[in-house]
Amino acid sequence: MARIIVLTVWIIIAVSMRHIGEAKEWSLLQAPSEIQQRLIRDPLSISLASTDYGHIIHQNPSAIFAPISVTDISNLIQFSNSLPIPFGIAARGQAHSVHGQSMARDGVVVNMTALTEGRGVVVVPDGGALGPYADVGGEAIWIDVLHAALKRGLTPLSWTDYLYLSVGGTLSNAGISGQTFLFGPQISNVHQLHVVTGKGELVTCSTENNKELFYAVLGGLGQFGIITRARIALGPAPTRVKWVRLLYNKFTEFSGDQEHLIAMNGRNETIGANYVEGFLLLNQPPLDLSFYPEADKPRITSLVTQYGIIYIIELVKYYDNTTQQHVHEDVALLVQGLKFVPTFMFEKDVSYEEFLNRVHSDELALRSQGLWEVPHPWLNLFVPRSRISDVDEGVFKGIMLKQNINPGIVIVYPVNRSKWDDNMSAVTPNEDIFYVVSILRATDFDKLEAFEAQNQEILQFCEDDGIGMKQYLPQNKTHQEWMLHFGPKWTLFKQRKQEFDPRNILSPGQGIFN
Ligand code: FAD
Repeated sequence: MARIIVLTVWIIIAVSMRHIGEAKEWSLLQAPSEIQQRLIRDPLSISLASTDYGHIIHQNPSAIFAPISVTDISNLIQFSNSLPIPFGIAARGQAHSVHGQSMARDGVVVNMTALTEGRGVVVVPDGGALGPYADVGGEAIWIDVLHAALKRGLTPLSWTDYLYLSVGGTLSNAGISGQTFLFGPQISNVHQLHVVTGKGELVTCSTENNKELFYAVLGGLGQFGIITRARIALGPAPTRVKWVRLLYNKFTEFSGDQEHLIAMNGRNETIGANYVEGFLLLNQPPLDLSFYPEADKPRITSLVTQYGIIYIIELVKYYDNTTQQHVHEDVALLVQGLKFVPTFMFEKDVSYEEFLNRVHSDELALRSQGLWEVPHPWLNLFVPRSRISDVDEGVFKGIMLKQNINPGIVIVYPVNRSKWDDNMSAVTPNEDIFYVVSILRATDFDKLEAFEAQNQEILQFCEDDGIGMKQYLPQNKTHQEWMLHFGPKWTLFKQRKQEFDPRNILSPGQGIFN
């Protein structure tokens, strides 16, 4: 009897699963022809859209959508909305997410790079009250924005370390780098957006018009609309930079000097640094010493061996023909009184573009060795200033240094919260200064588990110790964890979702509402 009941239950489950499958098939096959003709369903394309830079999560979409125009995107979203059970839709910029954020299991991935109609970067040198700006497609990558702006002697003000990321992708997170302390993240440097909402409506928004949507989308993890155009603030471009690294053997001196440097943060500051970051050299070979002169590598290696961890401030001073004469003096003034290990200051002089595009040469080298398309178990945290020393003790020394796991690149630098707009969806710790801590590594597939276990241990340490950190580029969480992540912003985040994407269609790979 029991066997008959079990069998019957199985038959019921199997039949209903088949119906669900049919419903999914039916929905896409019944799409109007203008949508059908842009759908791609061959196995290779499906397989490419089922992975990302992380190579950790794999989710097959039902199809990839290659829009030519913004109207195509709107039609797709409206079609999904018209169904009894809508399918998920994820905009895919460059898929440089590491945890499936640009995927849509059984849904549709929108290949933003397919957009062609009315695209390109339009630079407006005299934007009246706004100053110079660029109108760029959400699918554009930042290197193209840079090239277009440089042709007019202009540049975006706030950057990411790597420029082959899409404008829509970084604006959905924050977009941070060594200029953030001065100008805020990239989301603080946008005047206006064109967005297709989760209802399929095309809306232009700014702090003046449709501001709720504007604030929702910036840092909104793709939950409220697809950014199809952004008006980005520009300023005069320098031509060259002095690129300086200072080595420290004590964390408190390193962070104290970083905070001193970011305290000079008036937008028109001429005496301060234009860029401040920092990172760690852990005594876990191989050490990346490619920045330093050959003759100095042995003494840097012995410093790392002696102290276990060396902390490095990276700062940059921009210059051009008019400031060239005194840039040397400016750098000397900037580093005066800083507490780095005497004689451990290193400097390069490179073009502005070479500096901004510095990660690309690493990418090319890694690609040539087959080391780019590998798993990337990354962890990105925002740590309140008051607890950063505890992270040094508990995470860098307490966990990472003690375990024989390649630390990869560990980036640590403070930013000023006053440069962030709390109306936006992006989440930060609640202190005037907080630190970006990015633990960026690559591994073979067979070692991935050990890296993920260490990341978990780091998160657990932060939780147990009440560090009060927030994850940047947050990875899939439980409902409870998302509520905690957004904290006081959760209610508003939910309300905005209800208003702009009530059927939970957009960016399902983030795992917030599904
Ligand atoms: P995708 O991975 O394609 O998408 C990310 C999310 O945004 C998804 O949910 C997607 O659905 C959504 N989305 C994509 N396009 C749109 C759109 N037009 N409208 C609405 N939603 C959209 N980040 C920093 O802040 N600073 C750094 O210095 C930095 N360096 C990086 C270096 C490397 C090598 C890599 C791989 C990543 C780095 N990142 C950095 C992280 C990066 O900013 C994010 O992963 C960002 O999402 C990548 O953009 P993407 O175009 O690849 O987005």
